[in-house]
Order: sequence, then C-alpha cells, then structure tokens
Amino acid sequence: MIPPVTRSDAFKRTPAPFPAYVLPLMTTSAAAIAPFFINGEWTRTPGLATTPVFNPSTGEVIAETPVATATEVEAAVNAAHDAFPAWMETPPIERARVLFRYRELLLANFDQIAALISREHGKTRGEARGDLQRGIEVVEFATGIPTLMFGDTLENVARGIDCETLRQPLGVCVGITPFNFPAMVPMWMFPIALACGNTFILKPSEKVPLTAVRIVELLVEAGLPKGVLNLIHGGRECVDALLTHPKVRAISFVGSTAVARHIYETGTKHGKRVQAAGGAKNFLLVMPDADVGRTVEGITGAAFGCAGERCMAGSTALVVGGAAKSVLPTLIDATKAMRVGRTDLDGSVQPEMGPVISAQHRDRVLSLLAQGEQQGGRFLADGRGARVADSPNGFFVGASIVEQNDPTSNVLMREEVFGPVLSLIHMSDLDAAIEIANRSSYGNGAAIFTRSGQAAREFKHRIKAGMVGINIGVPAAMAPFPFSGWGDSFFGDLHVQGREGVYFYTQQKVITSRWFAEGEGDVWRK
Ligand code: NAD
Repeated sequence: MIPPVTRSDAFKRTPAPFPAYVLPLMTTSAAAIAPFFINGEWTRTPGLATTPVFNPSTGEVIAETPVATATEVEAAVNAAHDAFPAWMETPPIERARVLFRYRELLLANFDQIAALISREHGKTRGEARGDLQRGIEVVEFATGIPTLMFGDTLENVARGIDCETLRQPLGVCVGITPFNFPAMVPMWMFPIALACGNTFILKPSEKVPLTAVRIVELLVEAGLPKGVLNLIHGGRECVDALLTHPKVRAISFVGSTAVARHIYETGTKHGKRVQAAGGAKNFLLVMPDADVGRTVEGITGAAFGCAGERCMAGSTALVVGGAAKSVLPTLIDATKAMRVGRTDLDGSVQPEMGPVISAQHRDRVLSLLAQGEQQGGRFLADGRGARVADSPNGFFVGASIVEQNDPTSNVLMREEVFGPVLSLIHMSDLDAAIEIANRSSYGNGAAIFTRSGQAAREFKHRIKAGMVGINIGVPAAMAPFPFSGWGDSFFGDLHVQGREGVYFYTQQKVITSRWFAEGEGDVWRK
C-alpha cells in the first residue's frame, strides 16, 4: 500500500530553491520589479510605470509592480488563446495530475510562501499559513475534476432516443484579485478553471504581486504547458482591456463593491460570463445565553483577525439584552489586550495582529474612527494610539470597539471600514437584531452566538446573508462549497469554488441521439 503524503512528510523534503525571479524580491531590500509571465516566459517590459510594494510592518518599499498596458494584455490573451485547444484536449485526469504535483510543491514550500505573504501583506504568520492552506484546499478539490465534470445521461427520452450532457471548458478566462488574501483568492479561481480545461490570465492586486509570482512559478514547475496560465500586473487600464477583449470568455473578480459592479456591468455588456464578489458589512448577533469564552474568541477573531481586512470580517456586533452584562466586559478586556506588532521577522513571536496594508489605508481607518466619534460613537476600546516600538514606520492601527446608539446614522455602521474596528449596538431582542442586520445592502456573512437551537434556527432561516455562522465568527465557505455572497457583496449567478466554480468555468452541451439498424432507414421506400 502507498502511504498517504501528509503535510509533515512534505515539509521534510528539501524545498525547491527560489528561481531567479523571486529570490531578489524575497531577500534584498532593494526594490525589484515583479515580472509578468506570458506564454511560458518570465518577462519585464522596460519603461513601464510602476507602483510600490511595501512591507507594511516597516513601511519600506520591497518591490515595484509594473503597470501593464494593452500591449501586455494582448500578448497574454493571445498566448492563452493559442494554448487553449491542446489544453482542452488534455484528458481531465492528466490535468488533475499537474494539480497533484502542484499541491506537493505548495506543501514543500509552505513556510516560505507564508513568509512572503506576511512580508508583502502584513498578516501574522498564522494568518498567512491559513491563507495558503485555504488555497491548497481548492487545489485538492480541483484534483477531483474527472468526476466533477461528469455529465448526465437518460436512455429513451423518447423511444430509441437517448440524451446526454457534457461539460466543456469556455476558453480564455481571467481572474482579477484583491490585496487581502494574496494566495487564497487567486487560488479560488485558476485551479478550478485550469482543471476544467480553460486557459487563464491572472491579474493580482498591485499591492501584493510577489505571492502571485511565487504561486504561478510553482504551477509551472508542476508541469503546466506554456501559455495555459499567464500573469500580468496593473490597474484599471489593463483590467478594462481584459474586460472588453473579444477572445476573453469569462471573468472572475474579487474586490470592492464599486469595482465589482463596474467589472460585472462592463464584462457582461461585452458578452463575457462574469462572477464578481464585492465588499461587505457582516453582523455578529450575540444572545444573552451565549458561551462567554467561545463567543469572545469568535468575535475578536472575526473583527480583528487579519487586522479586519477580510470580506468576512465581523464588523458589527448586535448585543441582545443581557449579553451586555455576560459577554461584553470580557470582550472589551480581550480587545484591549490584543498586541499589535511586526509580522515580517522569521522566528520571532508573532503578535495577535499585524499592520494594515498601507499608510493610506491606515489613515482612512483613523479618519473613519474620528468621524464615527463625531457622529456619537463611544470608544469601549481605543486602538488609535497603538505604537510598535521596534518599527515606528509600520502601518499599525490597534483594535477598537465603538458603541453606537443608532443603527444607521453613524458612518462606522454603514461603511466597510476594512480595519480592526468593531461597531457595537444594543438590541432588545432577536427580532430587532435580525431586522437591523437585514437592512444592510451587503449580504456576505452573518453569525449568531447562542446556546438556543430555536434562536439559531430562526436566525439561519431569516437572515439575509449568503454565509451564516452558528457559534462560528467567520463562516467562510470551504473549498467544496460556493463562497456565497448576496446583495451588494456579489454580482453574477455562479459563485467561486465548489460545484458552482465548475459550472462557472464550463458550458453544457446536450446531445440527443438515435441510431438505426441496417436497412431500417429504407422504410420510406416501402
Ligand atoms: P479593489 O476593488 O481596490 O481592487 C481589487 C482588484 O481590482 C485589484 O486587482 C485592482 O488592481 C483592481 N482595480 C482596482 N480599481 C479598479 C478599477 N477602477 N477598474 C478596474 N480594476 C480595478 O479591492 P482591494 O482593496 O484590493 O480589496 C479589498 C476589497 O475586496 C474589500 O472591499 C473586500 O471586502 C473585498 N473582498 C471581497 C471578497 C468576497 O469574497 N466578497 C473577498 C476578498 C475581498
């Protein structure tokens, strides 16, 4: 019997040395320009404008992201278009084998990639490992493609006539991704798209290009043929060129709601299939009977994990009746005890919370907190003064809880802050809390903390959100399930991941057939 490969076995293998493109980005402080990967070649276009990539723990510039123009987009689309016929004809089991090898390479390089994520994004090492782990789970899901792409058949839809369905890939697909999960979000997309037989162009966030370079590099090492996966960097100009390109068949987007809406409208207007996930404002409903320890753990994780830069961040607590006495004091203490610090140092004790992505974003969070206070919010925990002694230039904001009187008038209750900020409001009962949560235009996630099955059942039935947690603060869907935002949190019909991901990246063909015996076709002559 072949022993299963576990993660610890994979770690024992010698990691592959970093190829020349990533090594300077990882080890030097001198800024290097992130490369494109087009038609199987790592390339740089001289003279392109660039944007800086920061180490958010220190504020240093560690790399530059080039801004692709229509020329690079054209080259990437043509490469993906030319590679499509052969990749589509590659049997699903062979496509899956590339993904099996990819999984092994990701595991063998797990710690290095996590370090890279922490360095360019600022997540703690544990959060960075979680980011990558969730991406690997999508790769594992996608290795099941031979059965995931099964069609249906029915004999005798009419006498002697049979019917079957086939799923076939679309062609050139595009993924445009946000900064906040540098590994997981791109991996929601390309493993399933490629497993289905499509070719792909990844356009990661300009703020975190290095993780994208590394995860593409490993897929190439796993044996992906040239042109099947391409990587370009840039902003609106290159995204718009992709959205309108006649050879692009489908667009997957994850990012803020304003851009998601633009991507959906422009892409569909140009005949593309589009799935576009947007921003969020997620509610955490705390009942008086909630388990105090587990609830505080769940809420602090949801509100302050990844420094609040999560589309599934629990950003508003609706505290029902006596929960104000049972849960709130411990929640405030736990929030005040959260340590902010550098996440980029190997081997050091990691803080509970890292920095936010940029100085500009830190200033936006601080400005929203100031406005929230002016509009009547009261700080129960105030993270605005957080300082990190060994890194005065890092982009740090501490964890805050702001108590509100009114569910709608305060900016912190309305806007996605995307920082370590929990708004909190007191509610008389479950009905009132559900009503407030359901007023939101978003609908990504919501959670209830309770010991009552009846309250939990009522909540899951009536809440208007696509991912619901019961005593789980971040009910983010796992790889076999769709990442199921509603309302302004999602534009499209088929979500990323799971079967919906397979349906998104394939088109169905229905074949109706009839066969004749020798001479049977001569019947008209008789
Ligand atoms: P963003 O919208 O600024 O950027 C996302 C991507 O779009 C990037 O690749 C960026 O280069 C590109 N882009 C930005 N502006 C553009 C424009 N005008 N035209 C075309 N392309 C443009 O988002 P972000 O700040 O990188 O990420 C944070 C946002 O993503 C938050 O709102 C968060 O809730 C959301 N998000 C949602 C989910 C989800 O599943 N719903 C998951 C993760 C993040």
